[in-house]
Amino acid sequence: MTYNVNQRIAALQPYKPGKPIDELARELGINDIVKLASNENPLGPTHAVIEAIAEASNQLPRYPDGSGFELKQALASHLQVDTAEITLGNGSNDVLDLIARVALQPGSEAIIAEHSFVVYRLAVTCCGGDLVTVPAKDYGADLAAMLAAVTERTRLVFLANPNNPTGTWVTAAAIEHFLQHVPAHVWVVLDEAYFEYVDEAEYGNGLALLDKYPNLIVTRTFSKIYGLASVRLGFSVSSPEFADLLNRARQPFNVNGLAMAAGLAALADDDYVQRSCALNRQGMAQITEGLTAQGYTYIPSVGNFVAFDSGRSGAEVFDALLQQGVIVRPIAEYGLPNHVRVSIGLPIENERFLAALAAIGQS
Ligand SMILES: *Cc1c(COP(=O)(O)O)cnc(C)c1O
Repeated sequence: MTYNVNQRIAALQPYKPGKPIDELARELGINDIVKLASNENPLGPTHAVIEAIAEASNQLPRYPDGSGFELKQALASHLQVDTAEITLGNGSNDVLDLIARVALQPGSEAIIAEHSFVVYRLAVTCCGGDLVTVPAKDYGADLAAMLAAVTERTRLVFLANPNNPTGTWVTAAAIEHFLQHVPAHVWVVLDEAYFEYVDEAEYGNGLALLDKYPNLIVTRTFSKIYGLASVRLGFSVSSPEFADLLNRARQPFNVNGLAMAAGLAALADDDYVQRSCALNRQGMAQITEGLTAQGYTYIPSVGNFVAFDSGRSGAEVFDALLQQGVIVRPIAEYGLPNHVRVSIGLPIENERFLAALAAIGQS
């Protein structure tokens, strides 16, 4: 049956989130499940964050501060930017969606790289934009080809740095070169969801380019290194003029009070970020060495996850690992049907994953 609805939306595939632990526990009748499927921080929340949420829950009947005053102040001082440049979102996905709604009209084009984060496609399609997908180079964004794909109709470029699910990245110099050459009618979104994890000398900080390139928008999130995926909190930093447009398009209370309280507490805890980085570095070595030992190749990643070539259908490997109580992520919908993405967990979780992978064999 065909409904009389927006046919672009009817043609979309629903976003497939990582399988929840409770769901698999119910299906298998076991409790000992390891989830390494959504690039979450394995450390768990700190006492300070839990306290902040408990405290904020006293205010549950009241609408939250729709301007996000306190959190914006803290972010501005933490990031050395102006509060007027910040737009808060219900996760950075909310901001990515807002950006597409502000920048695009039906008939506008948005450019993304092959294998890039699936939310860009959703955001562009839902507001009537045409998506232009540029083939990847070595699994990563080919900036020269993306530049060559710009037309008069292009209004938006999404670039995840590093990208999910590949973990590939581009240098600060390459981004600056891109910004120097992209026409002024194109908004460039630099999605730095994994910024804090990256430990590469040539990796840059998008915020440092904002003054020079007013068409640049940088997005960040509390879902990854700050360990707050459940509260849904992210933000963009852009020119105050673009932030003003985003502010017009957003829902009046798009960020809830518990999230803002949690974000404030998390932002004050540099130690948590340091510990998370150290844990990730160690876990990345553990998993990549384990994969190599089992004869698998992987895409070198600077994030908190790694995609490896399973040598067969990633969906099959995903299913076989589920039976072992380990949840990972097949990434066929990203154009990588034989790859599987595994998030870096605690050492014991990484070990469980590697043992499960060995148990299911190469087939
Ligand atoms: C996880 C992720 C985000 C964060 O999304 P939230 O809505 O903030 O949870 C953004 N971009 C990329 C590329 C991601 O992988």
